[in-house]
Amino acid sequence: MNLLTGRKQLSLVKESDLQLMATTQYKTFLTENKILNSATSRDAATVDRVGARIANAITKYYDSQGKESMLEGYVWEFNTVDSKEINAWCLPGGKVVVYTGLLPVTQNEASLAIVLGHEIAHSVAKHGNERMSQAMVQQMGGMALEVALAQKPKETQDLFMMSYGIGSDLGAMLPWSRQQETEADQYGLIFSAMAGYDPREALPFWQRMSAAGGANPPEFLSTHPSDATRIRKLKQFMPEALKYYTPRN
Ligand SMILES: [Zn+2]
Repeated sequence: MNLLTGRKQLSLVKESDLQLMATTQYKTFLTENKILNSATSRDAATVDRVGARIANAITKYYDSQGKESMLEGYVWEFNTVDSKEINAWCLPGGKVVVYTGLLPVTQNEASLAIVLGHEIAHSVAKHGNERMSQAMVQQMGGMALEVALAQKPKETQDLFMMSYGIGSDLGAMLPWSRQQETEADQYGLIFSAMAGYDPREALPFWQRMSAAGGANPPEFLSTHPSDATRIRKLKQFMPEALKYYTPRN
């Protein structure tokens, strides 16, 4: 059972193994892409600032619930990659990347906080673990992760990249399930609100994201479908999220 959501989830892969794998994949990603320095880039400085506030809020949230153990092994890192892609993701252990192409869609810090809260919620709610576990059963016959990594390193890495929405050589990305999306939205709103960002910004943000789709929808939109159901559920949950909100001054 998931400690955060109370939902039963397939979780065959040890979180500590996933965190280890995440650290390696994150390092590789950072060397292979153009990462902006927050000392010289305003965008990167913004991502760092909003990220730190969200990470703080999440730590506070877990402490208040007596569930500190869920963040075991988390060492937060926020990086900004110079790329037109509209995307952001969080790997197990709190390794986050924001693509500069996302920033014209978020437009303000509150919306950026909402995306970060959402992506981090996928990670702490162990949605990636759930997907990775399903993939290990379906495609690796339930092999243990360390065995799979030793015997089929490339395939295992591809499954990992797909499970966390990073994109992989396998091409097509899996969309998150409706339930995973709803959970990520709800916890994302709580985390943003606790960090002092107005959760109501989520509504115009997801509408802008939807409009950014056009003829060539970004990967992020194909894995996070934005539709009437999402907007309706966000509205339903808003009164609860607002209980956590104290504006920053
Ligand atoms: Zn999502």
